[in-house]
Amino acid sequence: MAVHFHEEDLPAGVLEGDSPLAVDTETMGLITHRDRLCLVQISDGGKDEHLVRFAPDSDYAAPNLKALLADPGRIKLYHYARFDLAAIEYYLGVMAAPVFCTKIASKLTRTYTDRHGLKNLVSELLGADISKQQQSSDWGGAELNDAQREYAASDVRFLHAMREKLIPRLEREGRMEMAQACFDFLPTRARLDMAGWPDHDIFSHQ
Ligand code: MN
Repeated sequence: MAVHFHEEDLPAGVLEGDSPLAVDTETMGLITHRDRLCLVQISDGGKDEHLVRFAPDSDYAAPNLKALLADPGRIKLYHYARFDLAAIEYYLGVMAAPVFCTKIASKLTRTYTDRHGLKNLVSELLGADISKQQQSSDWGGAELNDAQREYAASDVRFLHAMREKLIPRLEREGRMEMAQACFDFLPTRARLDMAGWPDHDIFSHQ
Protein backbone atom coordinates (compact mmCIF):
# COMPACT_ATOMS: atom_id res chain seq x y z
CA MET A 1 0.00 0.00 0.00
CA ALA A 2 1.45 3.33 -1.04
CA VAL A 3 0.25 6.86 -1.49
CA HIS A 4 1.72 8.53 -4.59
CA PHE A 5 1.84 12.31 -4.76
CA HIS A 6 1.86 14.18 -8.08
CA GLU A 7 1.83 17.83 -9.09
CA GLU A 8 -0.68 19.06 -11.72
CA ASP A 9 -1.30 15.70 -13.45
CA LEU A 10 -0.89 11.95 -13.26
CA PRO A 11 2.15 10.50 -15.04
CA ALA A 12 1.27 8.91 -18.39
CA GLY A 13 0.17 5.29 -18.16
CA VAL A 14 -0.79 5.33 -14.49
CA LEU A 15 -4.09 3.51 -13.72
CA GLU A 16 -4.57 2.26 -17.27
CA GLY A 17 -7.08 -0.57 -17.72
CA ASP A 18 -10.82 -0.92 -17.51
CA SER A 19 -11.47 -1.29 -13.78
CA PRO A 20 -13.66 1.23 -11.92
CA LEU A 21 -11.84 4.25 -10.51
CA ALA A 22 -12.47 5.59 -7.01
CA VAL A 23 -12.37 9.39 -7.10
CA ASP A 24 -12.52 12.15 -4.49
CA THR A 25 -11.63 15.83 -4.41
CA GLU A 26 -10.44 18.32 -1.81
CA THR A 27 -11.21 21.99 -2.32
CA MET A 28 -10.87 25.28 -0.46
CA GLY A 29 -14.49 24.98 0.64
CA LEU A 30 -18.01 24.02 -0.32
CA ILE A 31 -18.83 26.83 -2.79
CA THR A 32 -17.50 25.41 -6.02
CA HIS A 33 -17.11 28.56 -8.11
CA ARG A 34 -15.42 30.37 -5.20
CA ASP A 35 -13.39 27.58 -3.59
CA ARG A 36 -10.77 26.20 -5.92
CA LEU A 37 -10.01 22.56 -6.55
CA CYS A 38 -6.78 21.68 -4.69
CA LEU A 39 -6.51 17.90 -4.90
CA VAL A 40 -7.93 14.96 -6.84
CA GLN A 41 -7.50 11.52 -5.31
CA ILE A 42 -7.84 8.48 -7.52
CA SER A 43 -7.42 4.71 -7.14
CA ASP A 44 -8.19 1.68 -9.28
CA GLY A 45 -8.88 -0.51 -6.26
CA GLY A 46 -5.34 -1.87 -6.14
CA LYS A 47 -2.94 -1.19 -3.33
CA ASP A 48 -2.02 2.36 -4.31
CA GLU A 49 -3.75 5.70 -4.14
CA HIS A 50 -2.69 8.64 -6.31
CA LEU A 51 -3.00 12.26 -5.21
CA VAL A 52 -2.86 15.03 -7.82
CA ARG A 53 -2.28 18.47 -6.35
CA PHE A 54 -3.14 21.70 -8.18
CA ALA A 55 -1.31 24.95 -7.37
CA PRO A 56 -3.16 28.26 -6.80
CA ASP A 57 -2.18 29.43 -10.30
CA SER A 58 -2.90 26.09 -11.99
CA ASP A 59 -4.28 26.05 -15.52
CA TYR A 60 -5.83 22.64 -14.74
CA ALA A 61 -4.49 21.22 -18.01
CA ALA A 62 -3.92 17.69 -16.58
CA PRO A 63 -4.44 15.74 -19.82
CA ASN A 64 -3.69 12.31 -18.31
CA LEU A 65 -6.04 12.74 -15.36
CA LYS A 66 -8.78 14.20 -17.56
CA ALA A 67 -8.57 11.29 -19.99
CA LEU A 68 -9.20 8.83 -17.17
CA LEU A 69 -12.00 10.88 -15.63
CA ALA A 70 -13.76 11.39 -18.95
CA ASP A 71 -13.38 7.76 -20.11
CA PRO A 72 -16.94 6.45 -20.57
CA GLY A 73 -15.64 2.89 -20.14
CA ARG A 74 -14.43 3.49 -16.56
CA ILE A 75 -17.07 3.66 -13.82
CA LYS A 76 -16.15 6.33 -11.28
CA LEU A 77 -16.88 5.57 -7.62
CA TYR A 78 -17.56 8.45 -5.24
CA HIS A 79 -18.96 9.09 -1.82
CA TYR A 80 -21.30 12.01 -2.51
CA ALA A 81 -20.60 12.30 -6.23
CA ARG A 82 -22.76 15.39 -6.56
CA PHE A 83 -20.08 17.65 -5.08
CA ASP A 84 -17.07 16.05 -6.80
CA LEU A 85 -18.73 16.00 -10.24
CA ALA A 86 -19.43 19.73 -10.01
CA ALA A 87 -15.90 20.58 -8.86
CA ILE A 88 -14.29 18.39 -11.52
CA GLU A 89 -16.43 19.76 -14.33
CA TYR A 90 -15.99 23.36 -13.20
CA TYR A 91 -12.18 23.22 -12.85
CA LEU A 92 -11.12 20.41 -15.17
CA GLY A 93 -13.87 20.74 -17.76
CA VAL A 94 -14.80 17.06 -17.92
CA MET A 95 -17.85 15.21 -16.63
CA ALA A 96 -16.36 12.33 -14.64
CA ALA A 97 -19.05 9.74 -15.33
CA PRO A 98 -20.45 7.03 -15.43
CA VAL A 99 -21.01 7.16 -11.69
CA PHE A 100 -21.52 4.88 -8.71
CA CYS A 101 -22.20 6.87 -5.54
CA THR A 102 -21.82 5.02 -2.24
CA LYS A 103 -23.83 7.69 -0.39
CA ILE A 104 -26.84 7.25 -2.70
CA ALA A 105 -26.52 3.47 -2.45
CA SER A 106 -26.35 3.77 1.33
CA LYS A 107 -29.46 5.94 1.50
CA LEU A 108 -31.39 3.51 -0.72
CA THR A 109 -30.46 0.47 1.38
CA ARG A 110 -29.51 1.51 4.94
CA THR A 111 -32.97 2.91 5.62
CA TYR A 112 -32.59 1.95 9.30
CA THR A 113 -30.17 4.82 9.94
CA ASP A 114 -29.57 8.41 8.94
CA ARG A 115 -25.80 8.02 9.32
CA HIS A 116 -24.55 7.99 5.74
CA GLY A 117 -21.15 9.64 6.22
CA LEU A 118 -18.10 7.89 4.79
CA LYS A 119 -16.73 7.08 8.24
CA ASN A 120 -19.98 5.42 9.32
CA LEU A 121 -20.30 3.47 6.10
CA VAL A 122 -16.71 2.21 6.13
CA SER A 123 -17.14 1.20 9.75
CA GLU A 124 -20.41 -0.69 9.29
CA LEU A 125 -19.73 -2.36 5.94
CA LEU A 126 -16.02 -3.09 6.26
CA GLY A 127 -15.22 -2.84 9.95
CA ALA A 128 -12.47 -0.34 9.20
CA ASP A 129 -11.83 2.96 10.92
CA ILE A 130 -10.96 6.12 9.04
CA SER A 131 -10.18 9.46 10.60
CA LYS A 132 -12.05 12.55 9.41
CA GLN A 133 -9.79 14.87 11.42
CA GLN A 134 -8.25 16.52 8.35
CA GLN A 135 -11.59 17.01 6.58
CA SER A 136 -11.63 20.76 7.11
CA SER A 137 -7.90 21.43 6.90
CA ASP A 138 -6.16 23.86 4.52
CA TRP A 139 -5.74 22.00 1.22
CA GLY A 140 -4.31 25.06 -0.54
CA GLY A 141 -0.81 25.14 0.91
CA ALA A 142 2.43 24.39 -0.92
CA GLU A 143 2.97 21.25 1.16
CA LEU A 144 0.46 18.66 2.29
CA ASN A 145 1.52 17.05 5.55
CA ASP A 146 1.50 13.30 6.18
CA ALA A 147 -1.82 13.42 8.02
CA GLN A 148 -3.45 15.24 5.10
CA ARG A 149 -2.01 12.78 2.56
CA GLU A 150 -3.19 9.79 4.55
CA TYR A 151 -6.64 11.32 5.04
CA ALA A 152 -6.97 12.18 1.35
CA ALA A 153 -5.91 8.67 0.31
CA SER A 154 -8.26 7.00 2.79
CA ASP A 155 -11.20 8.78 1.16
CA VAL A 156 -10.76 6.66 -1.99
CA ARG A 157 -9.25 3.53 -0.39
CA PHE A 158 -12.51 1.81 0.53
CA LEU A 159 -14.90 2.76 -2.27
CA HIS A 160 -14.34 -0.38 -4.38
CA ALA A 161 -14.92 -2.70 -1.42
CA MET A 162 -17.99 -0.74 -0.38
CA ARG A 163 -19.49 -0.98 -3.85
CA GLU A 164 -19.12 -4.77 -3.64
CA LYS A 165 -21.07 -4.70 -0.35
CA LEU A 166 -23.72 -2.24 -1.53
CA ILE A 167 -24.65 -3.85 -4.86
CA PRO A 168 -25.99 -7.07 -3.20
CA ARG A 169 -27.98 -4.95 -0.77
CA LEU A 170 -29.48 -2.90 -3.60
CA GLU A 171 -30.38 -6.12 -5.41
CA ARG A 172 -31.81 -7.71 -2.25
CA GLU A 173 -34.11 -4.72 -1.70
CA GLY A 174 -35.09 -4.47 -5.39
CA ARG A 175 -33.56 -1.02 -5.75
CA MET A 176 -30.67 -1.56 -8.15
CA GLU A 177 -32.56 -0.10 -11.09
CA MET A 178 -33.64 2.94 -9.09
CA ALA A 179 -30.09 3.42 -7.83
CA GLN A 180 -28.69 3.23 -11.36
CA ALA A 181 -31.19 5.85 -12.52
CA CYS A 182 -30.06 8.10 -9.66
CA PHE A 183 -26.40 7.56 -10.57
CA ASP A 184 -27.17 8.37 -14.20
CA PHE A 185 -28.90 11.60 -13.13
CA LEU A 186 -26.01 12.81 -10.95
CA PRO A 187 -24.20 14.73 -13.71
CA THR A 188 -27.40 16.70 -14.29
CA ARG A 189 -27.87 17.17 -10.53
CA ALA A 190 -24.33 18.61 -10.34
CA ARG A 191 -25.02 20.89 -13.30
CA LEU A 192 -28.23 22.14 -11.65
CA ASP A 193 -26.13 23.08 -8.61
CA MET A 194 -23.77 25.10 -10.75
CA ALA A 195 -26.56 26.64 -12.84
CA GLY A 196 -28.30 28.16 -9.82
CA TRP A 197 -30.60 25.48 -8.43
CA PRO A 198 -28.46 24.11 -5.56
CA ASP A 199 -31.25 23.61 -3.01
CA HIS A 200 -34.44 24.18 -4.92
CA ASP A 201 -36.21 20.90 -5.76
CA ILE A 202 -37.43 21.48 -9.30
CA PHE A 203 -39.61 18.37 -9.00
CA SER A 204 -41.60 19.83 -6.13
CA HIS A 205 -44.99 21.50 -6.67
CA GLN A 206 -43.74 24.79 -5.19
MN1 MN B 1 -12.32 13.81 0.75
